[in-house]
Amino acid sequence: MKIISIIFAKVKIYFHGMTIYNDIDIKKYTTFGVRATAKRLVEYGSLDDLRRYFASDSLSEGFYVIGGGSNILFSGHYSGTLLHPVSKGVSVVSEDESGMTVRAEAGEVWDDFVGRCVDNGWYGLENLSFIPGTVGASAVQNIGAYGAEAGDFIESVEVYDPVSDRCEVLSGHECAFGYRSSIFKQKRHLIVMSVSYRLSRTFTPRLEYANLRQRVEETGVVSALTVRQTVTAVRSEKLPDPAVTGSGGSFFKNPVVEAELADRLSALYPQMPRYDATGGVKIPAGWLIEQAGWKGYRHGDAGVYPKQALVLVNYGSATGKEVVDLAARVAGDVKMKFGIELVPEIIIL
Ligand SMILES: Cc1cc2nc3c(=O)[nH]c(=O)nc-3n(C[C@H](O)[C@H](O)[C@H](O)COP(=O)(O)OP(=O)(O)OC[C@H]3O[C@@H](n4cnc5c(N)ncnc54)[C@H](O)[C@@H]3O)c2cc1C
Repeated sequence: MKIISIIFAKVKIYFHGMTIYNDIDIKKYTTFGVRATAKRLVEYGSLDDLRRYFASDSLSEGFYVIGGGSNILFSGHYSGTLLHPVSKGVSVVSEDESGMTVRAEAGEVWDDFVGRCVDNGWYGLENLSFIPGTVGASAVQNIGAYGAEAGDFIESVEVYDPVSDRCEVLSGHECAFGYRSSIFKQKRHLIVMSVSYRLSRTFTPRLEYANLRQRVEETGVVSALTVRQTVTAVRSEKLPDPAVTGSGGSFFKNPVVEAELADRLSALYPQMPRYDATGGVKIPAGWLIEQAGWKGYRHGDAGVYPKQALVLVNYGSATGKEVVDLAARVAGDVKMKFGIELVPEIIIL
């Protein structure tokens, strides 16, 4: 404990396998790229690292796991410890005639993992190509795109609980996956160490999205590779590249409203897109924001992305607070115009 306190006094230290930074600028750890600082950030590569770290009394300070920081917006200083996995590794843990279970470490870059799966003929994840972030977060967030969700393929998740100092393997069912949610959103103390995906030897195209189907068919070959390449191309066209323009992807969740409200709005706005969903009718938040007149809006360096109104962006030097304030104004207008409450998908810390 004493040794740890002393080494923590330095700005950057190497402690067994970990790198520990004190009073760190965390701008580069998030895709929003807003200026922010944290009391401490620990890059860890293994379970042993975490155990060593928590062997001090570090639990009392509070911690938060940050993967690629592509769904987090910091609105100021974070006064606890950010834990950043850098663990790498992908392996086939079992296989049979129809498919295989592939285990990936939490710190793997998600899109690298998807690319590796496609290259190896491990099929299923191709629609989820080019989503920023890490494998660990894919389970926490139950990431989704083009009709597929990570939870459709997750067989199990290995977690570490620093409170009890125990590891546990949760089945996909126990993860309670929902729309961009999982059990890990409630059990914040669980740290995902690895995720095991059940994948197939047979490629089954999932092309329910008409524009994706059309673009894939235009390539002349419907394969996992062309789906991956097409998804990557389409996403690059319509979403900001975090290396150029800061963002966290969709800022708000798509609201699910009661059928009665949806019907009233459809009568007023016959062109309003709507989709049946569990618990009501899903209306695209991007459409609501655009109709409220915010698409392309910019104040200083905070703005609403001109190609996709659901994405709020940082053009350079916006602060987290400026982005949060903009989000509140956008949500306020949508509430006033449509009577619909927008809930952030982005985690604001
Ligand atoms: C341009 C852009 C496009 C996007 N498009 C999509 C999309 O199409 N679909 C979609 O679903 N998302 C999308 N996102 C959001 C984002 O990519 C996902 O939410 C992604 O899973 C976040 O991964 P991350 O590693 O960056 O997680 P972070 O942002 O670092 O963390 C997200 C959450 O996961 C938790 N977490 C991360 N790693 C662990 C771990 N090992 N153990 C426990 N908790 C952990 C964090 O504590 C936090 O609560 C997009 C983002 C951007 C910037």
